[in-house]
Amino acid sequence: MTQANAKLNAFPVFMRVEGEAVAIVGGGDEALAKARLIAQSSAALRVIAQDAAPELLTFLSQNGAAHIAAAYDPAQIEGAILVFAASGDEALDRRVAADARRLGIPVNAVDRPELCDFFTPALVNRAPVAIAIGTEGAGPVLAQMLRSRIDQMLSPSLGSLAVLGASLRGAVEKLLPRGNARRRFWGGFFQGAPARAVEAGSLSQAHEAAVDLLLSSAPASGHIALVGAGPGAEDLLTLRAHRLLMEADVIVYDALVPEAVVAMGRRDAERLPVGKRKGCHTKSQAEINALLVELGREGKRVVRLKSGDPLVFGRAGEEMAALRDAGIAYEVVPGVTAAFAAAADFELPLTLRGVSSSMVFTTGHDLKGNSLPDWAKLAISGATVAVYMGRSVAAEVAGRLIEAGLSPDTAVAVVENASLGNRRRFHGTLADLPSLEARADLSGPVMTIIGDAVAGANFERSEPLAAHRHEDALAAAEGVQP
Ligand code: SAH
Repeated sequence: MTQANAKLNAFPVFMRVEGEAVAIVGGGDEALAKARLIAQSSAALRVIAQDAAPELLTFLSQNGAAHIAAAYDPAQIEGAILVFAASGDEALDRRVAADARRLGIPVNAVDRPELCDFFTPALVNRAPVAIAIGTEGAGPVLAQMLRSRIDQMLSPSLGSLAVLGASLRGAVEKLLPRGNARRRFWGGFFQGAPARAVEAGSLSQAHEAAVDLLLSSAPASGHIALVGAGPGAEDLLTLRAHRLLMEADVIVYDALVPEAVVAMGRRDAERLPVGKRKGCHTKSQAEINALLVELGREGKRVVRLKSGDPLVFGRAGEEMAALRDAGIAYEVVPGVTAAFAAAADFELPLTLRGVSSSMVFTTGHDLKGNSLPDWAKLAISGATVAVYMGRSVAAEVAGRLIEAGLSPDTAVAVVENASLGNRRRFHGTLADLPSLEARADLSGPVMTIIGDAVAGANFERSEPLAAHRHEDALAAAEGVQP
């Protein structure tokens, strides 16, 4: 039961006494009791007693304390930081208390609480650990009872353990992040092998156990692998990507990465979708960067899974910069980019001897504005052009390329869901390309490949783009929505 408003009239503090003088006036049992108490500290004990009892004299000489064998004089307590009036003579104790107060020194008068500035606690000493019990003079018996109970609870070697702990503080702060890791270490230190070794009396063994504990508590340093998941088919994943997925603590993946690929990760890996698909709840790139840095700092092994190749329209540059800035280790694992998967689906030679010897990876989204991007010139000089994210700008791409001088008859191949079982292939010419934009039947990612090399592809399994253009025209003529 606690009283709601119980307040302490004497507030416990731990006072610095190392090398400071503490004066005791008196030569009997009470003086000896205080001398014993103060001798537990590193204060310089000074006892003022004309007639000191033999027991007190022995104690003082054994403890290297100063003895002033003279009648009391206020000058004798000057410079002390604490004074005990323990003469047993009321008049003298009152004088000592008054003098101390005049000199600004806190005073304790034995058995005269009204003269006391401070009280001495019952003390459980495991230096540097101390438990002080105070009852404001109300119950010395209670205080002693508590003292002996607490004393039994605590190992005699607690002080040595605390000293060892203090010596490790710097290393712990350097090696372990604030919070859980440090708490866990100290829990293990004070209750585990180091504590047992100290108790068994072997400080060197305790030190070794503490170092072991420290090293095993240090978090594994985080590592982020930017991994290309390929175009979608699970078996187009590289062996390295697969191994990293099996070792991952966390898999952070984009919406374009099929569930089946994510499912190839370690079963108890945490899976964090970060969106990046129109209409889905997505994280901003800055949020993704911050997430990767945070996971790295937590010491996680992270697979950042991106569709295709991570370095092709994958914003990997920004993620790598964030990781570099944060000092987090990372590696890049290439993947089969969508252009290669689409070309394979079409048996389409991206380079063709005598026809095309260079290729362009572009998005078509840089076509806005008046100036023609460099890649348009490359297209005219025969490069094979792979257009990523090109569906919504198909008309713009076709128009600008024709305007720049590329023949409207230039071959075009389009693959939706390249590499996947539900893939669809379309072929046609640059003139047919704009029809792509309006098609509501294409819901998967679409890769468009343009150039003379496309003429070398296998069109046996593809539908003509123009057929759709034709149907559109018919539907429009009949006033029906396609
Ligand atoms: N880093 C990825 C590209 C991401 S940009 C890579 O290297 O492939 C996303 C675009 O990639 C889509 O708009 C689409 O143009 C293309 N894409 C991705 N997967 C595809 C697939 N299976 N089939 C066709 N195009 C795909």
